[in-house]
Amino acid sequence: MRSTERSKELFKASLMHIPGGVNSPVRAFRAVGGEPFFVDRAHGSHIWDVDGNAYIDYVGTWGPAILGHAHSGIIDAIKQAADLGTSFGIPNPHEPRMAELIKELFPSIDKVRMCNSGTEACMSAIRLARGATGRDKIIKFDGCYHGHTDSLLVKAGSGALTFGHPDSAGVPKEFTQHTVVVPYNDTEAVAKALEANKEKVAGIILEPIVGNAGLILPREGFLEKLRELTREHGAMLIFDEVMTGFRVAKGGAQELYGVVPDLTCLGKIIGGGLPVGAFGGRADIMDCLAPLGPVYQAGTLSGNPLAMAAGMAALEALKSGAVHQHLEKLGARLESGMCRAASDARLDVTFQRSGSMFCAYFGKHPVHHLGDAMRCDRDLFTRYFHGMLEQGIYVAPSQFEAGFISAAHTDADIDRTIQAASKAMQTMHE
Ligand SMILES: *Cc1c(COP(=O)(O)O)cnc(C)c1O
Repeated sequence: MRSTERSKELFKASLMHIPGGVNSPVRAFRAVGGEPFFVDRAHGSHIWDVDGNAYIDYVGTWGPAILGHAHSGIIDAIKQAADLGTSFGIPNPHEPRMAELIKELFPSIDKVRMCNSGTEACMSAIRLARGATGRDKIIKFDGCYHGHTDSLLVKAGSGALTFGHPDSAGVPKEFTQHTVVVPYNDTEAVAKALEANKEKVAGIILEPIVGNAGLILPREGFLEKLRELTREHGAMLIFDEVMTGFRVAKGGAQELYGVVPDLTCLGKIIGGGLPVGAFGGRADIMDCLAPLGPVYQAGTLSGNPLAMAAGMAALEALKSGAVHQHLEKLGARLESGMCRAASDARLDVTFQRSGSMFCAYFGKHPVHHLGDAMRCDRDLFTRYFHGMLEQGIYVAPSQFEAGFISAAHTDADIDRTIQAASKAMQTMHE
């Protein structure tokens, strides 16, 4: 068994001062039981906890660490920027450069505004879509996560075509009554929702590849059909690429599938590990934002020089496309090894992947929407998770989170991971 004394002590102290001992709920390991470890430092593909245990990391701080932890280019950029001051609250030279870099990678973006998190990006994109169209309704998909904004914390209820139901206490029903929730990959449901709410839908927001219910790919033609339907109905197509942006391809899922949204939400990788978000898109829509237009949106720390420097260092490193080629190779190696391990152990595992983003579902059937994901065997996943952790492999502590490979992972890391998975799976039958 790993020694966990120091992590246990720190968690005990945290529980006294922080709700649940954590500053974001999934870190508490509630889905898999046990207690979180506390991280002392991270480098490349590895993290080390305060008890001295090393782990090969597949969480990658939930996506941002695409170049690996403590990437020297990012660390140097932060240090240089910090010497000049941490925040100015008035434009700094990093801001136009960051905007240009984003536009270069995402040709669908004419103009972009920076903010401080993915939540803010999605919240602001929704407000902008509503402000620009003069319509109130939003269509979202069951199982897609767009941050913890009131009106987006909704899952499908029985009256899904007309009313959404809040997914959290503290969200008044009235706040979500303009959110219509439909199943992912279901174009008929979308068409019906648009018909039922004619000329009322401001936009459709989605993860073009879903990374918040494991890893769900859009079915062939799904994104294209959404593009067609939104055009027909005068609604905006909003791609939430907070997770997939710069990850599944340097230009995100929109590059991969060749579908052009009206608005795009970005986050995670764009901050190089610092708190950053961004949203951008067609100039005529973006110009509805204050100070040009009537849609208000602001942020004291938006465009922060440290965060811009870190983010730009990350994006610059991704520009050539070489990193993504390397990531695809690592991803394919992991996929084939994991499938072999599962079949050797005679376990039903459905491995879904896009480049360096993946999920091993403990179930026999392909996962096309949240309902499919919910049918997976979560007890098996829990045993797998702890089996991996004990062998020094850290995968996300929930069946419904995507895994991430970084450019700092090596073939040897992947092979050791497959070996560990094989061992964990062999014992899961007992
Ligand atoms: C993580 C995530 C968000 C929220 O971003 P935060 O920075 O955690 O606020 C929004 N949308 C998607 C798709 C995400 O993966």
